[in-house]
Amino acid sequence: MSTSEGLRAWVEVRGGAIRRNLERIRQAAGTEVPVIPMVKADGYGLGMEDVVDCVDPLTPWAYGVATIAEGLRLRDHGVQRPVLVLTPAIPERYGDAVAAGLTLSLSDLEAVERLNRAAEAAERDVDFHVEIDTGMGRAGFAWQDASAWGEGVVARAGPRLNWQGCFTHFHSADSDDASTREQWERLAAALSKVSAIPTSCMVHVCNSGGALRGPEFAADAVRPGIFLYGGRAGAGLPDPEPVASVRARVTFVRDANPGTTVGYGTTYTAGREERWATLGMGYGDGLPRSLGNCGHALLGGVRVPIIGRISMDTTVVDITGIENVNVGDVATLIGRDGDATILLDEVAGQAGTIGYEILTGLTSRLPRIWIDDDGS
Ligand SMILES: *Cc1c(COP(=O)(O)O)cnc(C)c1O
Repeated sequence: MSTSEGLRAWVEVRGGAIRRNLERIRQAAGTEVPVIPMVKADGYGLGMEDVVDCVDPLTPWAYGVATIAEGLRLRDHGVQRPVLVLTPAIPERYGDAVAAGLTLSLSDLEAVERLNRAAEAAERDVDFHVEIDTGMGRAGFAWQDASAWGEGVVARAGPRLNWQGCFTHFHSADSDDASTREQWERLAAALSKVSAIPTSCMVHVCNSGGALRGPEFAADAVRPGIFLYGGRAGAGLPDPEPVASVRARVTFVRDANPGTTVGYGTTYTAGREERWATLGMGYGDGLPRSLGNCGHALLGGVRVPIIGRISMDTTVVDITGIENVNVGDVATLIGRDGDATILLDEVAGQAGTIGYEILTGLTSRLPRIWIDDDGS
């Protein structure tokens, strides 16, 4: 899909901005450090295959996904680079992962045995990465017990398995320097206790927030996600270039006399002679319902308030005093219109969530229209 003509609502994605954000991660973490762009959850909602096509010319070392199904999608798309599956995989699907040449992350000795069996059954050589838990708590071998599990991993990995990497995940790289450093030290302590670890083993730690903190934690590769897609990686860290714009057309315009109500529960009543515009977008498109009576849209470069509750398919804004708003005009819920801008993180803050949830919550009802601007 390349044009918004005839669309009621859509997401505009600026591919050049994704590439520039990736370059900024590289500049922060060290220009030589291999990058593993995280493209899980359909490329943070923007379209996994399109994201890959967009960043592939920058020669990332690998791609990061959360599930085997996502990894298979990348292989179907023709991706030849390594694909890291960074959450514990479902046991029944190890065979699929091996057949597709995906790189699983292993968090216990049973998983090592299981992968070993799958590799032998398929007669294929298989790379794997070991996750080390340094405080995130959702997966990984415990950092304190490294000498024990280190031996166990080596003992269970047969000749078909190659221990290619070790990683951990920061829980507070967006906000907290001290805990980030503490996790780094825990990882170092764990690695120093695993005498059996291959010297070629690559270590990777950083999400966007970690990578933007500089080369100190970059190790052998970085795994940026949100920053590539225009979401802030944390307070005090550089702002990304905006990537996604969320647009909806005006589908109806009306005058509202004082006393006129709008929306479920009639939470808004016109207090004067007002003019309202109905937009073709609601929570069924992923616009957070919590923006009712608190969020904004841009119309003709002017910021206008959302009034009443947001419905599944529509949202109403108060355009009183703004000339020349017509059916078919384009409203901006996230992004820029003229000199006015609504940032992804501003909307997330109003909705009481994070940019990640807003992006991944944009539903399939919104076509993603890619604009390949390479200017800056
Ligand atoms: C999602 C994820 C990332 C990327 O995190 P961002 O905060 O989006 O940069 C990195 N590593 C792992 C293991 C992840 O799950």
